[in-house]
Amino acid sequence: MLRNFFQAVLNLFFKPNCPLCDRPADTQLCPYCQKQILRCQLPRGKQFSGEVPLLVWGQYKGALKQAIVAMKYNNHPEVAQPLGYWLAETWLNTSQFNSSNINNQRLVVVPIPMFSEKQKKRGFNQAELLARSFCQVTGLPLKSQGLERIRDTKAQFGLSAQQRQDNLKDAFRLGKDLRQSQANSVLIVDDIYTTGATIKAAIEAFRQQKITVAGILAIATTKSLSDK
Ligand SMILES: [Zn+2]
Repeated sequence: MLRNFFQAVLNLFFKPNCPLCDRPADTQLCPYCQKQILRCQLPRGKQFSGEVPLLVWGQYKGALKQAIVAMKYNNHPEVAQPLGYWLAETWLNTSQFNSSNINNQRLVVVPIPMFSEKQKKRGFNQAELLARSFCQVTGLPLKSQGLERIRDTKAQFGLSAQQRQDNLKDAFRLGKDLRQSQANSVLIVDDIYTTGATIKAAIEAFRQQKITVAGILAIATTKSLSDK
């Protein structure tokens, strides 16, 4: 915490270098790294088929992977700003995705929450920061506490599809931001889309409360383009 505070104070006086290549940068990422990240973008935001439309901005590889790792594990939450911006830009340009939604006054944006202990350790929830940046561009209301993670789940890595599903069963419930709200439709934001088990569990939590999930947005996927 203290380290973050001093870093923030220092950043007021000294421009921090790009967290990916350490070159001087005027924005969160230098122009070179921005260009490298844009190369990881999927054609017009890859939409995977499924019950609920899923929009993924890029492939989890190269500079995009580096940026996400820097954001999550090397204490560079500021990287969420440009990533969320690009996600919003793609969403706004994907007319079939947003045309029916954007005029819906009761559509809100909800990030996938982290278990509170884990978030305390990291100091932030990257999905929330991405969602915040996304909302700054789209103007949609952000409900950071729209969903609550009620129990910690084992790391998903190395589990079979069925084990993942069991692991996440009842992991979420409606959070305090939506309990009193009139919102009837949500967009879920997550950082990385892998098997979709987490998203499925989140969708289930909303369905139980008769809230429609209008779409799922993720900045990157580990799935290959040929996957369904
Ligand atoms: Zn750079």
